[in-house]
Amino acid sequence: MSLKEACALDAADPLRFFRERFSLPEDTIYLDGNSLGALPRATPARIAEVVAREWGESLIRSWNDSDWITLPQRVGGKIAGLIGAAPEEVVACDSTSVNLYKALAAALVLRPGRKVILSEPGNFPTDLYVVEGLERLGLAELRLAEPGQIIGAIDANVAAVMLTHVHYKSGRVHDMAALTAAAQAQGALAVWDLSHSAGALEIDLTACNADLAVGCGYKYLNGGPGAPGFIYAAARHHAGLINPLSGWMGHAAPFAFADAYAPAPGMARMLSGTPPVLGLAALEVGTDLVTAAGMAALTAKSRALTQFFIAAMAEQTPALELASPADPCARGSQVSFRHPHAYAICQAAIAAGVIGDFRDPDILRFGFAPLYIGFADAWNAARIVGQIVASGAWDREQFRTRNAVT
Ligand SMILES: *Cc1c(COP(=O)(O)O)cnc(C)c1O
Repeated sequence: MSLKEACALDAADPLRFFRERFSLPEDTIYLDGNSLGALPRATPARIAEVVAREWGESLIRSWNDSDWITLPQRVGGKIAGLIGAAPEEVVACDSTSVNLYKALAAALVLRPGRKVILSEPGNFPTDLYVVEGLERLGLAELRLAEPGQIIGAIDANVAAVMLTHVHYKSGRVHDMAALTAAAQAQGALAVWDLSHSAGALEIDLTACNADLAVGCGYKYLNGGPGAPGFIYAAARHHAGLINPLSGWMGHAAPFAFADAYAPAPGMARMLSGTPPVLGLAALEVGTDLVTAAGMAALTAKSRALTQFFIAAMAEQTPALELASPADPCARGSQVSFRHPHAYAICQAAIAAGVIGDFRDPDILRFGFAPLYIGFADAWNAARIVGQIVASGAWDREQFRTRNAVT
């Protein structure tokens, strides 16, 4: 394998022009777009426009004149197109954690008499903590089963099976259609966390018959730090959908200022407070870029890129053990490796301009946002990490000390 081969693959990449639409530092290979997506070049101007013109000049009139009030539906509708949902089944709002809380509470109400939320150990921490919060209110009971045992652990007490589609550490992909069908066969609902899927690989919530889903706006959707997330509910559940954080923005008539809550029709009821306009404006820019590239092309490129990187790493750095599935279809858009000194290697790689990340205790994780990462990036990253591991450069004191910020 060679840089020449990587450059030929880049030259043949139909998505290669999207890289110019992002602002990325020259001296950096950014393999952390699965944690914080890169900045679209159009975002600063869009935010400046929203601030200076829509806010500064039009002031409160912009809620209507600039359609601020419908941003959650507008951006949600665009995200729906990326995850196989109908536009009216998704709203963009709140953080993923908060949306998950709302989705699980809604699932518990849709399945009265059942309290168990079934998940897997090692799921993304916030997902489990959210269930614990519902447990403390006496509303839920958390049950964990290893991935191979999930289907067998679904019984008549399970209200919802809550899983993250692409695992944040390993990148392993769950079979969404099969697990959803297994949940539903026992009368339970399937709640999917799409944080590492949306914008990275093709998913079809409708074809999988998913019940509820949430996802993140600042990873592959490039919405910026702390961007709003999104929440999906299949249209068949809308009539019975409750929002435990019933707020005025989810009211049928928010500006009637009535004392009593009456839920808005459809997904609008899943809104709670005032939409974060700046965050949604930035998320819209990032989402539009993903839409323009198309999920089929992004998925194909993601698989080719991660496959290329795995092969290059095997050649350059055989000391690192692959911790992601070898089958590209069983993997999201990231590649993880295991090494006892993963932390120090990661720090040394960052110092050398390859930004990946470390996940406790021994995982070195590289994300390949297919919208702006290319094959030459993958090859150069493998070469630099290979040099670091071979030279023992990671063994310097500065890289080995774990400080508060990882
Ligand atoms: C990134 C991520 C989140 C993020 O939740 P926030 O509320 O935005 O902090 C949640 N779940 C998973 C699986 C994630 O990967």
